[in-house]
Amino acid sequence: MKVVVIGGGISGLATSALLAKAGCEVDLFEARERVGGRAYTIKDGKFTFETGPSWYLMPDAFDQFYRLMGTTAAEQLDLVQLEPAYKTFYEAEPGKAPSEPILIHDLLGKNMEVFESVEPGAGEALGRYVASAQDVYDLSMKYFLYTNFDSVKPFLKPELLKRAGMFLSHLFKSLDGFAGQHVRDERLRKILDFPAVFLGASPYNTPSMYHLMTHVDMNVGVFYPQGGFYKIIESIAKLAKDAGVRIHTSSPVSKIIVKDGAAAGVLVGDEVVAAEVVVGTADLEFVETKLLEPKHQTYKPAYWNRKQPGPSALLVMLGVKGKLPELEHHTLLYSNNWKKNFDKVFKKADGKSQIANPASLYICKPSATDKSVAPSGHENLFVLVPAAPDVALGGEGDPALEAAADRIVDQIADWAGIPDLKSRIVTRHIMGPADFAKNLNAWSGTALGMAHTLGQSAFFRPRNKSKKVKGLYYAGHNTLPGIGLPMCLIGAELVYKHLAGDKSTTPTETLKPLAVRAGKPKKAR
Ligand SMILES: Cc1cc2nc3c(=O)[nH]c(=O)nc-3n(C[C@H](O)[C@H](O)[C@H](O)COP(=O)(O)OP(=O)(O)OC[C@H]3O[C@@H](n4cnc5c(N)ncnc54)[C@H](O)[C@@H]3O)c2cc1C
Repeated sequence: MKVVVIGGGISGLATSALLAKAGCEVDLFEARERVGGRAYTIKDGKFTFETGPSWYLMPDAFDQFYRLMGTTAAEQLDLVQLEPAYKTFYEAEPGKAPSEPILIHDLLGKNMEVFESVEPGAGEALGRYVASAQDVYDLSMKYFLYTNFDSVKPFLKPELLKRAGMFLSHLFKSLDGFAGQHVRDERLRKILDFPAVFLGASPYNTPSMYHLMTHVDMNVGVFYPQGGFYKIIESIAKLAKDAGVRIHTSSPVSKIIVKDGAAAGVLVGDEVVAAEVVVGTADLEFVETKLLEPKHQTYKPAYWNRKQPGPSALLVMLGVKGKLPELEHHTLLYSNNWKKNFDKVFKKADGKSQIANPASLYICKPSATDKSVAPSGHENLFVLVPAAPDVALGGEGDPALEAAADRIVDQIADWAGIPDLKSRIVTRHIMGPADFAKNLNAWSGTALGMAHTLGQSAFFRPRNKSKKVKGLYYAGHNTLPGIGLPMCLIGAELVYKHLAGDKSTTPTETLKPLAVRAGKPKKAR
């Protein structure tokens, strides 16, 4: 079976690797000069800044992918568990001193003690919250993540039917509402709300089903691959190549060719590349509305106008002289105006998007764990400020966005107690919504993809298969199961499951041959 994969982010690389391992002849076309997509790097002297993922979550999804490829995460990556897992700072209430930062640890027991010290009874409440999170996580892994939802039969199991009430209540309650049933202290509630950001959504309209993420960060732990997240990309690209995938970079696809209602290949420059199966893993909105003629589109422009993109981001990458013990590997800054902050990220204020001021934001300091990312005596900071998915906010070099980045540096200096931060910055890069749109063909400049609201999750999320064109499949953060590196690995497996005719809901045991390879793999171009 001859397959063309569009896009060389983690979804395209993983899909091509699995399909090649299952016997297909695969060509992958990536528009940029390097693979990686959202998981990219900027080299600046001895600094290596990552511009995308920095949390290695759901290790079991990585383990499953690597197992299918005949290896293990331990063989491919040098993973370290972070302790503390992360630190949180809070904006001072007007007229009051800021409250002490809170550290979240590698063990649930320690976190229960931390919660208890902030609010009597919150320790035990966290224990109940995480037990529920683990229950929902385990059921989701078994029934809701590794499925294309093309049959209702697997969902009619007694184990699930008995829990229907619980599931329904978690679909219609918000994550913030569920957190509020467990803790009253605003700081603790923000800690439980935060995983919504990983899902490109606000805790006010994310179903509480996603409290399963707290099992991931507080029970399983937070990991970091030494050398950075690009090591994951490199390992998957190598596995793909070893399986025979031909990876073509600097090769944007400009059209999906359809003949008699079936995918027949793609157009790259003026070259027609024939294929029996095409897998689009660039942003689905772009693939559907720009690479297909209107009559072949399953998700037309009107569909995207009705849908909610997840947030974009102002990313600020800083090389800083000297050490920054005030910050951990992962540090979060939470503003008081929590709800207003989320409104700014999801809605335009007065018809114009703005970067919140002060902003709730996230700082990664990989140099805390990894000597390779900064020159000696320096720190590497990556600051992610969630922002509206609106290209009008601009990108690198845009004066308004650069000014917002200045403000963010001042805010970090103030809240984390680093008064000389600005003067110690030796290099700086920024990225904004316009860069996501320009570099990645991102829908509305979103950094993360379609928000995981109720109407955009599970059964309601775009499917991994075209309804209009036979042989056309999709993977990536806008399709099932959704946003994040582990979810994208699962999405890659979902394409394999489609081709294998596998309607099960559980992770694949072993890859079955999909077809005899048509000829020997040629050398990569
Ligand atoms: C700032 C940021 C922080 C994040 N943090 C985390 C985190 O901590 N943990 C986590 O798990 N996830 C995180 N994510 C999410 C995660 O990075 C993404 O969900 C994932 O990388 C998406 O991969 P993808 O392959 O679906 O899409 P992409 O990575 O966007 O890949 C799509 C590829 O298609 C290419 N392409 C576009 N148009 C064409 C064309 N015409 N022809 C050929 N190729 C084309 C693009 O260049 C790109 O390489 C983060 C994302 C961002 C942006």
